[in-house]
Amino acid sequence: MEKLEEDMKPRLIGEPYLRKPTETSRQRYSFGIYECQYCGKEFEAITKDIKKGHTKSCGCQRGKGNPTHGLRNNKFYKTWNAMRGRCINPKDKSYKNYGGRGITVCDEWMDVANFVDWCEETYPNIKGYSLDRIDNDKGYSPDNCTWSDKTTQAINQRMQKNNTSGYVGVTYYKKNNKWVANIRINKILKQLGSFKTKEEAVQTRDNYIIENNLPHKLSKDYKKE
Ligand SMILES: [Zn+2]
Repeated sequence: MEKLEEDMKPRLIGEPYLRKPTETSRQRYSFGIYECQYCGKEFEAITKDIKKGHTKSCGCQRGKGNPTHGLRNNKFYKTWNAMRGRCINPKDKSYKNYGGRGITVCDEWMDVANFVDWCEETYPNIKGYSLDRIDNDKGYSPDNCTWSDKTTQAINQRMQKNNTSGYVGVTYYKKNNKWVANIRINKILKQLGSFKTKEEAVQTRDNYIIENNLPHKLSKDYKKE
């Protein structure tokens, strides 16, 4: 059995007390009121069952196997735990803006292993991106989520009026008769090279976006507008 993650252990509220588990029991046990770290519900449990890890939750995790799959140290675990908390735990400080207004986590992603799989497949190959919902009124699910940084919205805006190439991130330099490709990531403009033809510059930028899983639009997506 894997060790129960310390931070998911039910949290004792107040002082433990002694009582018989049932009317007919001979022995009294130490009981306590605990807060479930998965859903925020309060429940009563035998102190030693909590200490030994026999009681892991209020019951909401029963039948779900090991809810963390030993993924506690995965870099996306914190993302998952925070997402889950603000959607299902009424005691979470952000709950009112999420769970409280009907924002949910889809069944698939309640299992951290599925969430981590999705993250590993889609996370941009560059630091600084956070989980973002596409439609702010819908919940967390693979089809409503993406990764973005603060400048992504600006990047994905329509082409600027002074654009000369017809492609975002590709500029013509008269002086040396070259097409330069660049891309803005986390507010920093990164040069991708200069090229003899516009097509090469556009292709280089598109390849860079694809290879690094970036959320930026590809050239073909701009042309559709
Ligand atoms: Zn619970």
